[in-house]
Amino acid sequence: MLNDTINILSLESYREQIETIELVKEKNHLVYLIKQKRQNIACPTCGFMESHIHSYMRKKIVHSIHNDMSCHLLITYHRYRCKHCKQVYSEPVMLAKRYETISQYTRMNVLDDLRVSTNTFTFIGSKHNISAQTVINLFDEYVEPRRLKLSVVICMDEFYLGKRSKLKYACVLLDFVSGAIIEVFDTRHKHKLIDQLLRIPITERMAVQYVIIDMWDSYRAVIHKCFPNAKIAVDSFHVIWHLNRAMNDIRIRVMNRYKKNSSSLIHNDIYYYMLKKYYFFLVVDYDRLAKEYVIPKLKTTYTKDNLLYYLLSIDKELRAAFELKEIYRDFNKTADQYTTLEDLEDLIQKFRKSSSEEMKKVGKMLHNWQAEILNSFTKVEGKRLSNSKIENKNSQIKTIMKTANGYKDFYRLRNRILFSLNKNTSIKGK
Ligand SMILES: [Zn+2]
Repeated sequence: MLNDTINILSLESYREQIETIELVKEKNHLVYLIKQKRQNIACPTCGFMESHIHSYMRKKIVHSIHNDMSCHLLITYHRYRCKHCKQVYSEPVMLAKRYETISQYTRMNVLDDLRVSTNTFTFIGSKHNISAQTVINLFDEYVEPRRLKLSVVICMDEFYLGKRSKLKYACVLLDFVSGAIIEVFDTRHKHKLIDQLLRIPITERMAVQYVIIDMWDSYRAVIHKCFPNAKIAVDSFHVIWHLNRAMNDIRIRVMNRYKKNSSSLIHNDIYYYMLKKYYFFLVVDYDRLAKEYVIPKLKTTYTKDNLLYYLLSIDKELRAAFELKEIYRDFNKTADQYTTLEDLEDLIQKFRKSSSEEMKKVGKMLHNWQAEILNSFTKVEGKRLSNSKIENKNSQIKTIMKTANGYKDFYRLRNRILFSLNKNTSIKGK
């Protein structure tokens, strides 16, 4: 009977210390009364082995062994009086260290639950019948993941820390090949970031060959300074994003020329209506469009070919901008490591000659980043350099921040990110 209870409670390794166990059931709550065996321990003051029993003490330890019911152990332990020097002292209590009130079993389960990025501190607390603050304390005490070693190819990006945060942005470094998060910094500010990165040993920094970034000028300066051998590649999705934004601005400008009455749809010119409703034709990949579109206002159905033709026939500038955008998209899809700066420069000239200010601006941007754009056609382990992995992690980071209603303590956030999003992050002291 005693052994069965010991097994149920996963206390096998404490078998020798247990005298008796008694179960008391309260409403939705289990209490196990455990008596410890008398222990033979030396007096901490004089080392004498013989003692009288002075008194009994009780300690409550949370031990969430059952899924559906909260549970704690009430452990009765001895206090002894030394026969030699009369000193009174306690025996160690099983399951938890002196100031702890949670069993190691529960603690390990809490830490395991903290590995799941969607679990909030509050949720884990209620699951194990401890307060959210206790979960936070456990986390702070046991979780402090180390920075990973810098990889040969690094993705670099930032995320917004929220309105309530004193710090505005954090910067993430990620291993392009493994997808693991290397480190999270509390700034994206040039000088502060350089300061922190320069603390990493130079041999490690020298080994970095590529860093992938969005088109953010500060990062370019940071990388030149901190990773002297690294080439910079800009994330091509980011270039396309800028291109699409320019395209969209042009569409809106053109569209508004045809706007006659903003308050009622029926008086609007049909061009305005079409450019507004089918805006995505100008920015989405052609392959991703449906085959046909029913157009209720025209009481007809267009194939996607016809609809695109219709939209582009509305305005010359719009058509020219669209064609330019498509030339770049093709270039982005087909270029490779043999593509030269001259090829890209030809393309940039076309943007500079564009009649749209928005496209001229894109041309300037392309020129400013031409070396980094060219580098982005490099493949590592068969994959083109990009920041797609970090974008994915950033959405998980957002979940962590949301479930915690924002982290006031940046270091705790950093630890939770590394602990929950990287695999096999070790626990302190293990
Ligand atoms: Zn003594």
